[in-house]
Amino acid sequence: MTPRTPTQRIVIVGAGVAGSIMARALARQAGLEVTCLEQVAPDDHASAGLVIGPNAIKALHLRDPLLASAIGEAGLPWDHWRVSLCSGEVLLDLPLTRVADHGGVRILRATLYRVLRGAAAGTIRYRCKLLECGASPQDPARSYVVWEQDGRQCRLDDIDLLIAADGRDSPIRSAFGGQPEVHQVGALLLRLLVPDAGAGRIDDYEQWCNGPNRLLAFRLPHGQINIAGSLPLRPDNATPHVGIGPQALRAAYTPTHARPGPQAGWLIDTLCANVDAICWYRMQAPGIRFAEPRAQVMYLGDSAHAMAPPLGQGVAQAIEDACSAAELIATSLAGGETSPRAWLATFEAARLERLRFVMSVAPHAAGLMLGGATEQERASALAALRQLYCQVALPRHGVGPGAGTGLPA
Ligand SMILES: Cc1cc2nc3c(=O)[nH]c(=O)nc-3n(C[C@H](O)[C@H](O)[C@H](O)COP(=O)(O)OP(=O)(O)OC[C@H]3O[C@@H](n4cnc5c(N)ncnc54)[C@H](O)[C@@H]3O)c2cc1C
Repeated sequence: MTPRTPTQRIVIVGAGVAGSIMARALARQAGLEVTCLEQVAPDDHASAGLVIGPNAIKALHLRDPLLASAIGEAGLPWDHWRVSLCSGEVLLDLPLTRVADHGGVRILRATLYRVLRGAAAGTIRYRCKLLECGASPQDPARSYVVWEQDGRQCRLDDIDLLIAADGRDSPIRSAFGGQPEVHQVGALLLRLLVPDAGAGRIDDYEQWCNGPNRLLAFRLPHGQINIAGSLPLRPDNATPHVGIGPQALRAAYTPTHARPGPQAGWLIDTLCANVDAICWYRMQAPGIRFAEPRAQVMYLGDSAHAMAPPLGQGVAQAIEDACSAAELIATSLAGGETSPRAWLATFEAARLERLRFVMSVAPHAAGLMLGGATEQERASALAALRQLYCQVALPRHGVGPGAGTGLPA
């Protein structure tokens, strides 16, 4: 009789983007006992619009084509990227197929969560809020979690792999690593979702610049328009959006020496008319961490890193993280590697390299939004975007020259 491989106990905290994809992938894997805890009810999420970069759609097609198709069907295609001045002068008019193998997706956050969570039905336990977690007293490599469910406290011990997919204020990262060092990026972000009353002025993904002040908008399914914007921010400003009313918004986005073009004009009017409904955020970035050095804890998505929204990379990198981790665990188990420590080492090596590259792209892309960019700067920005959107690799377990990178040996 062949000896039975011991079951690995895996707990995922958070069924957002990365956690739902992981829960679906790992639940199909023999030899794993998987629990996914999510604090909210299944359809409890504030609505906002998202664009998902082509690289994430590619990663998901490689790993889970059915899920990739379901996301595409629930959203609208993101095929085009245009950048203009607020006066209307076009700086960049880029079909995404010039820098990607296919487009991305525009989708409501609530719709994305519904699709992802629906695909992991049966594995996710809703209304389960993580209260406490830490290393097991008996074995510091393993961990325990305590959560609240229906007013009761529940506990699970001897977890072989704890996966933090609990978002940008990750309670797991705080519990294991202390508060992550957060770097303030120096931008104040605004978001507004409105019905499309702009007579079709806004459709695919577009940005408008007035000096350092940026607007961004795109149409979503069911006639909604997602508007976003950014304004420079001094890092020491504790209450950055206080006092930003219609007058300040209009001044920030109206060109000094020209009238706003028809699209920017409509966006400015819409922001000013809905100023109380605007959601404000500070852009901040914690240091990158994919794994704890001693405890068997893996970080995915916003708990591992933050992303600048303009490249559509917050959700995209959460998807890439989850696809990479799921692929790695599946190929490791198939090859007889059952040690979570080994999985973590390979995962971290593969993702760190990719993440560092992705973070280096934003300054290049900013060059595309400058009227005075040279041909060389534009060419280098387009090359960086092509690498970002096309060169997606899922890590594979094994030895040899291509091990850990997912690239052909
Ligand atoms: C306004 C706004 C607009 C954005 N626009 C874009 C965009 O256009 N494109 C883009 O790519 N990215 C965008 N982003 C970023 C993107 O939303 C995130 O990068 C992405 O959702 C990260 O996925 P995640 O799986 O790491 O975390 P999330 O999707 O945030 O999921 C985390 C989950 O963990 C759960 N959780 C947290 N704490 C606990 C706990 N104690 N117990 C149990 N569960 C818990 C949460 O309820 C949540 O479901 C935007 C972000 C914001 C705030």
